[in-house]
Amino acid sequence: MQVLTTIAAVRAARAAFPALGLVPTMGFLHAGHMSLVARARVECGAAAVSIFVNPTQFAADEDLSRYPRDMPRDLAMLEAAGVDLVFAPDPAEVYPPGYASRIEVGPVAEPLEGARRPGHFAGVATVVAKLFNIVQPTRAYFGQKDAQQVAVIRRMARDLDMPLDVVVGATVREPDGLAMSSRNVYLSPAERAAAPVLYRALDGARALFARGERDAEALRRHMRAAIATEPAVEVDYVSVADGASLREVERAGAGCLVSLAARLGRTRLIDNVVLG
Ligand code: AMP
Repeated sequence: MQVLTTIAAVRAARAAFPALGLVPTMGFLHAGHMSLVARARVECGAAAVSIFVNPTQFAADEDLSRYPRDMPRDLAMLEAAGVDLVFAPDPAEVYPPGYASRIEVGPVAEPLEGARRPGHFAGVATVVAKLFNIVQPTRAYFGQKDAQQVAVIRRMARDLDMPLDVVVGATVREPDGLAMSSRNVYLSPAERAAAPVLYRALDGARALFARGERDAEALRRHMRAAIATEPAVEVDYVSVADGASLREVERAGAGCLVSLAARLGRTRLIDNVVLG
């Protein structure tokens, strides 16, 4: 496994792989990341993983400085998984002095996370475009857990004619339903015990839909009520949105994205399911 920190080194190493799957990450890896890595290896014959806590996608009041990091553990996991190439640059390698360009993806980046985290998706789109240009993957792998991120990256790749396939992997969950996230490590024992209510709320909305409920507001109400049973969890938003535009709907239908964000103490978690 080659562990590279410069763009020049990645460019030089890239030529050895006829096809290459890229999994962009911010590190502190878990089974969700590793499911994407395994798929990249199988489907492309070789896998590259980037580990970069991208400063431009964090707002000033967010958790950039305390975001969890453990490079030795990450590298051991990737080595054991048979990864070919790791790109782990410093911020100065990615954003040298004078750096000024930025990719804005438009309406799909505006609601939900985009509304609560101004600038977040411009930061994501820009760094992912750079990673695509640096690594030149045949396919790039993203998790359904960050559903709006997937929509943003797909839009960008189509609009800007990026020569690769965007592949989405299912959300990997803990046995109690909590979506795996590097941020779960922030949770106190009491918060961790309360956190599965988020998936229970989503799953309850999905069950209501399966029983015939089509009023999107009824699904939102159900989720708010479910989460209210855990006083330690504060809802940021609950959403039933069109799967393509991510705009809120009145009538729920197959393909709608049911998503939520909530705070447990200082930790903000997101999760989603797709109806139908
Ligand atoms: P992150 O390191 O949190 O930026 O995540 C890197 C990639 O892994 C993103 O495409 C995420 O959507 C994906 N990912 C994170 N958590 C999960 C999960 N629980 N299941 C599947 N994919 C995930």
